[in-house]
Amino acid sequence: CGIVGYVGHRSALDVVLDGLRRLEYRGYDSAGVAVLDGDGGLAVERKAGRLTNLEARLDEVGREGFAGTAGMGHTRWATHGAPIDRNSHPHRDVTGRVAVVHNGIIENFAALRAELEAAGTEMASDTDTETTAHLIARAYDEGDTKGDLAASVRAVVRRLEGAFTLVVTHAEQPDLVVAARRSSPLVVGVGEGETFVASDVSAFIEHTREAVELGQDQVVVIDRAGYTVTDFDGEPAQAKPFTVNWDL
Ligand code: GLU
Repeated sequence: CGIVGYVGHRSALDVVLDGLRRLEYRGYDSAGVAVLDGDGGLAVERKAGRLTNLEARLDEVGREGFAGTAGMGHTRWATHGAPIDRNSHPHRDVTGRVAVVHNGIIENFAALRAELEAAGTEMASDTDTETTAHLIARAYDEGDTKGDLAASVRAVVRRLEGAFTLVVTHAEQPDLVVAARRSSPLVVGVGEGETFVASDVSAFIEHTREAVELGQDQVVVIDRAGYTVTDFDGEPAQAKPFTVNWDL
């Protein structure tokens, strides 16, 4: 339902939790975060219920593993799978290197799930979302998308039906976050040495008012220097820059 992604110089956890709080008005039933530690680690926590439940959980496990400056978060409005901890986003592949948050519905998830299960992948949730984490991890490990997270995301979103925004991180790519949009809205926020993606500008306007609206079927890679937009085939694409001139 609400999405925030960040690569910059601040605590990603703080930026993401603040952003999710700004998006609370959209309504949600669970929340989660993922933070890259820059050293091959990808810390994830998620919790059913209010954001305060997630924050209590973070205090319980300790926030040391969440000190990185790149990451993402999600507030979920369940469509596939009950609103319980294990169905909360981010979802990961079996190796725990890929994390995905998702807004919307993947209509053909049952076929994708059957394909993954036939190949021996065990599902950890009842969501439509989880299939994408396994497929992206596989694409990242194999073939001509190997080692290229954006190309892996593009290869997978080309196979998806339905309306979705996906935001993806990989433990081996700690300095970037990749997002894809079909129908569900997605905006980039461009700051000084920091870049945001969110379902709504309110998630980042306390940090920057320079925004870019992604078009349909576009993929964006954000890093500390800015952003790059392509279509789902990897061809350079134009997104629409604008300045936010209203106050919170
Ligand atoms: N379909 C996904 C789920 O049920 C995402 C729901 C959302 O947009 O929050 O987990």
